[in-house]
Amino acid sequence: LSDFALPAGPAQRRQSVAVNVGGVMVGSDHPIAVQSMTNTDTADIESTVAQVMALARAGSELVRVTVDREEAAAAVPHIRDKVRAAGIDVPLIGDFHYIGHKLLAEYPGCAEALDKYRINPGNVGFRKKRVSQFDAIIETALRYDKPVRIGVNWGSLDQELLTLLMDENGRQAHPISATAVMREAMVRSALLSAARAEEIGMPRDKIILSAKVSDVQQLITVYRMLAQRCDYALHLGLTEAGMSSKGLIASSAAMGILLQEGIGDTIRYSLTPEPGGDRSLEVKACQELLQSMGFRQFLPIVSACPGCGRTTSSLFQELARDIQNHIAARMPTWKETYPGVEAMSVAVMGCVVNGPGESKHADIGISLPGTGEQPAAPVFIDGEKATTLRGPKLAEDFTALVEDYVAR
Ligand code: SF4
Repeated sequence: LSDFALPAGPAQRRQSVAVNVGGVMVGSDHPIAVQSMTNTDTADIESTVAQVMALARAGSELVRVTVDREEAAAAVPHIRDKVRAAGIDVPLIGDFHYIGHKLLAEYPGCAEALDKYRINPGNVGFRKKRVSQFDAIIETALRYDKPVRIGVNWGSLDQELLTLLMDENGRQAHPISATAVMREAMVRSALLSAARAEEIGMPRDKIILSAKVSDVQQLITVYRMLAQRCDYALHLGLTEAGMSSKGLIASSAAMGILLQEGIGDTIRYSLTPEPGGDRSLEVKACQELLQSMGFRQFLPIVSACPGCGRTTSSLFQELARDIQNHIAARMPTWKETYPGVEAMSVAVMGCVVNGPGESKHADIGISLPGTGEQPAAPVFIDGEKATTLRGPKLAEDFTALVEDYVAR
């Protein structure tokens, strides 16, 4: 036998300087943190509190809120207090653009209540007239002992820095492509801003960087560049990822590749929700990406075959769905309840072709009868055949067996 010396897992995690964000450690060997962002008007305290709590309950370990104007800054301490009063102590991050320096100076309650400030160097950064604004935010962060994320975004890239690099490129004997100049501008915007923050006195363990792009290949390249050129903790995310499956797949492809290369200390899915859609899908997506890649465990795993012409009835799909819902409700906080315990796995399979084999690999599995098979469903527990279920109460009986397994 030979394993062909192929790498059997992710590359060693890139070593970054860990940052404490309101009690959640981001970077170094700490678990890759799940984060999300509200889309309520932050000045609307009740709606924002409700969404922060929903995101935290869904498993978001960090929640960002936009702080775009005075009413929002004034609301932040109340949001913090109400969320805490409900028994939820999730770190809150303030997202600042353009006037963040003024809001933080004029609303000390906001500066104190937040656990991290996100600064966009594209609108308070490298440009000389704005250096004082950037400096002011860093000085406030130092005064309140808060970390910052210097978050560059392709859509709001520092135009002065970009023009400088374009000019420099034009003078080169062998100019690089305009896209490559943009990538370099993004990376440089983040690194120059971080260097400036350090110059003012911000320690490295208070700085997180991000450089978000909406194109999968560009994002991967930009983060590889950042990872090579610094050891700051990195926040990953594909910006403007889009709606439903497009946003989910593009984000998963980009972040999956980077995580596999050991790059990334905290992740977010920037999904456009369907009107009235559930914002906590971003959180679920983060968890499922990290769990499916083997980095973390959040929920029991239910595997089910896709079904095919051998599947006899809709019982199979219904059972897979019901079991998934049942154990998600029964074991909502796996990691807190069972620290260090490998996530439970359940298999629901449609016929004898792969059913018994897959069921044996799960903690508990059932193989439903396919076309032409005896109307019997063998159940395997811990790799051994435990019983065979039959009759109209089959789904109910299997749920009871799963419940018994959960209890044990
Ligand atoms: Fe089809 Fe059976 Fe395979 Fe499921 S296990 S996809 S029912 S052949």
